[in-house]
Amino acid sequence: MGRTGVVTPVIQIEPVTISGATINNVTGHNADYLESNGIGLGTRLRIIRSGEVIPKVDEVLSATLANIPKQCPECGSQLEREGVALVCHSDNCVAKLCRQKAHFFKVLEIKGFGPAAIEKLATVPLVHFFEQMDVNHYVGFGFGMQQSVNLNAAIQARKAKSVTPAKFLAAFGIDGLGESTAQKILDAMRLEDLLFSTPDDLTHIPCIGEVTAHSIAAGLQENLTTIKMLMDHFKFEAAREPESGALAGYKVVFSGKMELGSRKAIAELAKKHGADVLSSITAATTHLVCGANVGKAKTDKAEKLKVMVLSEENFMELIDG
Ligand SMILES: [Zn+2]
Repeated sequence: MGRTGVVTPVIQIEPVTISGATINNVTGHNADYLESNGIGLGTRLRIIRSGEVIPKVDEVLSATLANIPKQCPECGSQLEREGVALVCHSDNCVAKLCRQKAHFFKVLEIKGFGPAAIEKLATVPLVHFFEQMDVNHYVGFGFGMQQSVNLNAAIQARKAKSVTPAKFLAAFGIDGLGESTAQKILDAMRLEDLLFSTPDDLTHIPCIGEVTAHSIAAGLQENLTTIKMLMDHFKFEAAREPESGALAGYKVVFSGKMELGSRKAIAELAKKHGADVLSSITAATTHLVCGANVGKAKTDKAEKLKVMVLSEENFMELIDG
């Protein structure tokens, strides 16, 4: 099971020996795979060891009725179908909680929280580690005195050290929101704004597709309370100024009379921060910056092409971060 609760089905087979190794099961990939190949009780399969190591299904010789797992193998909760995958959504799934925590501690480089320790602490909400856990609490969970001191010290050390907002976000294990993607998004918007962004806001950011945008927005909503509470306990480094400028990848059109300077001066500023300045709105345009008296035809066209429309002030905020 993955940290987002996705369950990978395993196909149990009658044991066979291939190049000296006995094979009892092979991966079933996902629910869609089992269904479309008709893999269930009594299916005949040809198994190979790919690269002579990992056994896998090479061919389905005779399909049967697909047998899709209904319950989480770890907690017994009803599994839900999401696209091709099977997902355990139970908040009480210890396996899921453990994997989320393992990911969190690993990404944030908090030492000492190995698999055995995490299993003991599986049901402790993340916020508690930063707000109320002290040495005595760890002792209460069955840790020895020295280990309790070490675990508590590791959390305190994390609090004292700074972290980039991108790494902080990546620690929550949200599907599609790894550190580099988080950084790309945070180059375009502040952490506080990202937390309340819609999938639509996110698709305006270069290299975020629609599926990823939905996944990120949903994941942020699901973790919102925890993220907001934990933000108080982390010291954030100022957002990194990307080498190529805060507006790298932006294709901007300016329209109307600018109030904050001549249009030429503002366009120069945009270029200095890495944006391409275009003369008219096309499908390639990412942002339309509107001064005074912009014609409706222009804003309509921008809307139709899903170009983000900004006021001059919005635009300046992008540059200032
Ligand atoms: Zn479960």
